[in-house]
Amino acid sequence: MPTASSVLRIQTVTIWLAREVYQQMRDEADLFSPLETGGVLLGWRSGSSRVIVQACGPGPRALHGRHRFLPDHQWHVAEIHQAFQLSGGDLDYLGDWHSHPSGDAVMSSEDHATLRRICRRVRNPLMMIIDGQTQPGERVTGCWMGHASGWSIFGRYEAIAQEIRLFDPPTDWQHCTTERQSPDVLAKL
Ligand SMILES: [Zn+2]
Repeated sequence: MPTASSVLRIQTVTIWLAREVYQQMRDEADLFSPLETGGVLLGWRSGSSRVIVQACGPGPRALHGRHRFLPDHQWHVAEIHQAFQLSGGDLDYLGDWHSHPSGDAVMSSEDHATLRRICRRVRNPLMMIIDGQTQPGERVTGCWMGHASGWSIFGRYEAIAQEIRLFDPPTDWQHCTTERQSPDVLAKL
C-alpha cells in the first residue's frame, strides 16, 4: 500500500503543457463538437513534472459519440512509436486526453475505469479532459493522474487532480507539432 507520503508526492506533480498543443486539442474538440474526441499526450517526465509537447488526435478508426469516445488504439500505438523514433527516444506516452462537449471537465465513472486500466501498463498516467460547455477561450480543462497499486479489483486506485501550467517552448525545441503535419514534414524538423 502506498504511504501517505507517496500520495503527497503525487499531488505535487506539475503538468507543463505547451500552449500550441493545448490550442490544437481545443481546435480538435471544436471540430468534433457535439461529439467527443481525444487522443494521446506525448512528452517526458522531469522529476515531479510532466512536460507535454505533443498531442495526437483520435485516429482514423476512432468512434465518436455524444458521451463516449473510443480511440483508434492501433493508430495511437504506431504514432507513439513514430514519435519515440523521430525524437531519438525523447518523447514518450504520458496519458490520454478527450473532450466533454456537453459536460463538465470532470471524470466520469467510465473515465475512471479507463484510467485505472491504463495504470496497469503505465506508471501514473495522465487523463486530461477539455470541457465543451464554456465559451471559446473560456474552456475549463482538468488533468488527473492515476495511481494504482495491486492488480486485482481490490487494489487501490486514485485519480488525483493536477495543476496545468501553459508554457511557450523555446524555439529550439522541435517536438511541438500537430498531427496534421505529415511524417515527411516531421522528419525534416
Ligand atoms: Zn470522459
